[in-house]
Amino acid sequence: MKQSASCAQPATGRLSIIGSGPGSPAHLTDAARSAIADADILVGYGPYIDQLGDLAQTKEVLTSGMTREIDRCRLAIERARHGNRVALISGGDAGIYGMAGLVFELLAAEGDTRLAVEVIPGLSALQAAASRLGAPLMHDTAIISLSDLLTPWDTIRTRLAAAAAADFVIALYNPRSTRRTSQLEEARRLCLLHRPAATPVGIVRNACRPDEEVEVTTLGELLSCTVDMSTLVIIGNSSTFVDGAGRMVTPRGYENKREFAGTGQSTETAAPEPPSRTASPAALMVVGTASDVGKSAITAGLCRLLLRRGLRVAPFKSQNMALNAAVTPEGGEIGRAQASQAVACRIPPHTDMNPILLKPTTDTGSQVIVQGTAVGVMAVAEYDRYKPVAWEKVQESLERLQQRSDFLVMEGAGSIAEINLKDRDIANLAVARLAGNAPAILVADIERGGVFAQVVGSIELLEPWERDLIKGVVINRFRGDPAILEPGLKFIEQRCGIPVLGVVPWLRDLALPAEDSLALPPTDDGNRPADRLCVGVLRLPRISNFTDFEPLIREPDLRLCYLERPEQLAGLDLVILPGSKATMADLAWLRDRGFDRALNSFGGMILGVCGGYQMLGELLQDPDGVESLAATATGLGLLPVHTVLLPEKTTRLTTASPAAGAALAAPGWHQPVQGYEIHAGISRIIGAAEPFLRLDHEADGAVSADGRIAGSYLHGLFDDPPLREALLNRLRRAKGLPERNAAPPPPDPYDRLADHLASHLDIPRLLAICGLA
Ligand code: SAH
Repeated sequence: MKQSASCAQPATGRLSIIGSGPGSPAHLTDAARSAIADADILVGYGPYIDQLGDLAQTKEVLTSGMTREIDRCRLAIERARHGNRVALISGGDAGIYGMAGLVFELLAAEGDTRLAVEVIPGLSALQAAASRLGAPLMHDTAIISLSDLLTPWDTIRTRLAAAAAADFVIALYNPRSTRRTSQLEEARRLCLLHRPAATPVGIVRNACRPDEEVEVTTLGELLSCTVDMSTLVIIGNSSTFVDGAGRMVTPRGYENKREFAGTGQSTETAAPEPPSRTASPAALMVVGTASDVGKSAITAGLCRLLLRRGLRVAPFKSQNMALNAAVTPEGGEIGRAQASQAVACRIPPHTDMNPILLKPTTDTGSQVIVQGTAVGVMAVAEYDRYKPVAWEKVQESLERLQQRSDFLVMEGAGSIAEINLKDRDIANLAVARLAGNAPAILVADIERGGVFAQVVGSIELLEPWERDLIKGVVINRFRGDPAILEPGLKFIEQRCGIPVLGVVPWLRDLALPAEDSLALPPTDDGNRPADRLCVGVLRLPRISNFTDFEPLIREPDLRLCYLERPEQLAGLDLVILPGSKATMADLAWLRDRGFDRALNSFGGMILGVCGGYQMLGELLQDPDGVESLAATATGLGLLPVHTVLLPEKTTRLTTASPAAGAALAAPGWHQPVQGYEIHAGISRIIGAAEPFLRLDHEADGAVSADGRIAGSYLHGLFDDPPLREALLNRLRRAKGLPERNAAPPPPDPYDRLADHLASHLDIPRLLAICGLA
């Protein structure tokens, strides 16, 4: 090493590292041409030398294979050291994935600073390809090679994700070879997390060569185009467009200058605004510092508030994780919260309001429901791979909803600062951006404590583009004197430069449907008052749609509790087995805890709803592995019913009227009630029991001969008064309590909620943020 460094070098020896351009003599610079003419030895990869044509003649030419770059550079250095004038030919520009860096690395390793080396720039494939497409590189561009031969794929992936998130135009070198095909697919997926499928993409093969091919496509269609190692791919940013002549153009930002519009006045000093897709997004996003900080309620309240101003408002939450689903009129499932927000907007719920619903079946997997329909159970990694598809659906639903509405109040999911998930986010600020950079307000929950850290910490963890979207902070669930918060609120405003729009006091007994089991009341205190109906619901680990039982809470003589241990059955008048997202697993849980024996000796009434009904039967079969736990399971044997789980899921709104068993379980019930079904299975009575209900035209459920044990697939069976009243009066008679009429339905809570927000938030400022002032 040291040896060659100390070697005196003949003064004439020189190494020119020459960028030979994309591959045609016309695109070779004059400087490159003279350097080649001056050289006595050409070193390079065969095809690049061939592209020089006549220029290479009369020279000594040393070529080596494509992957022998180090050999070529060493050879060039050695020959220059021996007094030759060497031209090292590198395609495109020698300093862009070319030979220049390698030569300098080799020289540095040897400590050689004396060899005369010059770099002659060449026209890079990047510029060549861009010129063929139009002007796609007019704004900040990230250049990324997809070749993982020299760079670990993890590093490439991280850079792709960052560039995609930061809205760079992305130029992909070495995009695909015969053996390396997945890299381009993954690059596309990562981009789709942040950009619409319609984003323009330019593909240029053999730019400036005789067999040049140019194609302008979209990110969605990218994989159906020919892409190989002679291709450069350019992915547009959020403002790139394709003009009428098919040219791909990324605006520089001149449209923000007044003279652009033809006023003739130049505003040199105006900083270019980041490009946004639409001038006014007509949407607001409510995001949180954590889950369950009250986003859903604030969203619902704002929906009603804006509705009262005469706008057609709709709620939107791209992705929801919850086991409480609602059924839409078209027979799809969405999160309960969006269904109630639709009520706040006085419109029917629609699957577009919550295109992705994840119903956790285990700690690591969920049933994935897309635009209302279950597409399968996926583990986390699998869902990550599926996300680009999910994201396309989110865009589709958002677009449709925007078309049908004047204004969207969107809700984020969980915390906005989950930095480990940021690059795959399809639920939070990526959606605000998708909706045309909708402003967002950040909700923090003071009840949990640490509210200033919640707010400042969340904002500090945001990317700059995300922070730019946060236009206000709301402190929720406050009890006490807001004056004491003043200094803290000032601090937030100063530190983050974001206004606090208000402090929303805790609103007592606001009857909004609960979203997930985080909202379940604390468990049973064992108190069984003799003058009340005592009803217990089994707190299954995968309990779903426990909103079924919320109407019971409103009955003044009823006490509802959630049960975790068999001893808690004592003194109850009614035990309910609720719906479950994992019936087989919850059945096993119930057995483990000894609930099977306790229920067998329990003397009060037992009601099973949906999954709970299936558990009450004798046998559950899962021939297709729908829940993939076991092919069969023995039920509790309290009803003579056999259930088969089916891959096909039933989700529909249903009208229920009484069948023969109703006279036993709920005597006196005659009027039909409305409810809904969500289940993957059918149950058949195989012994002495009567069907409970008639759902549209088919029989449903079962009731034992003494009317004490009943089951049904109907959700929402307590929502309408007639069935609730009849069933509870049967229990009241058995306990010697006076009969009662069903409690009236609660008043619409959304006006109260909207009033509450109106008196505690700076509404003029909020409207200004929304562009509605
Ligand atoms: N130094 C070269 C890049 C070498 S890396 C430059 O500055 O252009 C090789 C990659 O460049 C190829 O896999 C391809 O992605 C791209 N490339 C090189 N020449 C090209 C051309 N004429 N047309 C399209 N892409 C080209």
